[in-house]
Amino acid sequence: MLPKVKVPKNLIYLDHAAGTFLDPEVKKAMEPFLGENFGNASSLYTLGKKSQEAIEQSRKQVAEVLSARAEEIVFTAGGTESNNLAILGSVPANKKVHVITSAIEHPSVLEPVLELKNRGHKVSLLKIDKNGFVNLDQIKKAVRPETVLVSVMYANNEVGTVQPIAEIGKWLRSENQKRILKKLPSVLFHTDACQAAGALDLNINRLGVDLLTLNGSKIYGPKQTGVLFVKKGTNLKPVIFGGGQERSFRSGTENVAGIVGFAKALSLSEQSREKEVKRLKVLRDYFITQVLKNIKGSSLNGFDERTKLKVANFIIKRLSNNINLSFKGLEGEAALIYLDSYNIAVSTGSACSSVRGETSHVLLALGLTKEQAESSLRFTLGKNTTLKEIDFVLKVLPGIVQTVRNMNS
Ligand SMILES: *Cc1c(COP(=O)(O)O)cnc(C)c1O
Repeated sequence: MLPKVKVPKNLIYLDHAAGTFLDPEVKKAMEPFLGENFGNASSLYTLGKKSQEAIEQSRKQVAEVLSARAEEIVFTAGGTESNNLAILGSVPANKKVHVITSAIEHPSVLEPVLELKNRGHKVSLLKIDKNGFVNLDQIKKAVRPETVLVSVMYANNEVGTVQPIAEIGKWLRSENQKRILKKLPSVLFHTDACQAAGALDLNINRLGVDLLTLNGSKIYGPKQTGVLFVKKGTNLKPVIFGGGQERSFRSGTENVAGIVGFAKALSLSEQSREKEVKRLKVLRDYFITQVLKNIKGSSLNGFDERTKLKVANFIIKRLSNNINLSFKGLEGEAALIYLDSYNIAVSTGSACSSVRGETSHVLLALGLTKEQAESSLRFTLGKNTTLKEIDFVLKVLPGIVQTVRNMNS
């Protein structure tokens, strides 16, 4: 039976991996550039210079978080665009080459990689283990003389697994030294870090990447904003041609308000990162433990970090805000609708795959059957998530799961 409880007035939003609200401080930083400071950054008079200066200030702010140089930061219109630029821009026009990526990437990586395949390039898709990880040995085996790019996401948007980026980066750097002597092209290393900002270390020197994608819409910044970090000296070609803005990597009149908002959002998320990770981990593990205990036939998808919490020099292997659970015999979408009627917003599998109504490629890659994958719900916590909200969800979820299960039997 459906739980008879008072529905909360305020939305309990547990879908932060799909998108976050705009932080009021970010909004405030953007406002002048949505109003009186409307100048085109390329114009030479004072109004234009104000925009130009705001962009360059934002570039420095972003560079500082990444420990990069300001000139290595390219502002784009979001994660999808950064990923397309990184992947399509890494491949020479006149030669057939080879690229490597993982089977659980976001569609904005998988689709451009598929496009390369259609253009006659060779592609290797790395499988993941049952916990959702790729490992360095797979990369070592996959690299060929004609390989030009490895693209592995930093943290997965559906199940939150964190890939060993620093380890891969370190090996690729030493491998590239050897390739110079053999006159082979160097292998560029790209990581999609859209889900990592505010949760994981973004120092590009420690990560050893040449290209790194970030977006604003997952870090309490504006939508359609993002960055591609392009390491100095990287041979990258544009995919959008025009007036030569962003050092010709990304032509088009700059979205000044968006750039200012993105930089502010990234700085704020970095400032609160360590504290927030600790706080969310506790909520996450409490939620997982309670659900597994109280709902029969429930199981966690992805790596279970609960037992590893007390280890010293602990390495984060699952995003602190990610909970992805399967419920045997449940129709995930029906449960989502019922949760919505209690003013709780969650997602099935991933928002990106549900647009096309496809079964999550990530859950299938983890070895789940189609039925198990479609019985899954993703809860992703955020900076306004409270214990009280979590407790309310824990109170209504068992009854909702039971109701939906009964419908199907
Ligand atoms: C959201 C997301 C993207 C796409 O970013 P947009 O800004 O929506 O284009 C890419 N990769 C990952 C991992 C994401 O979570």
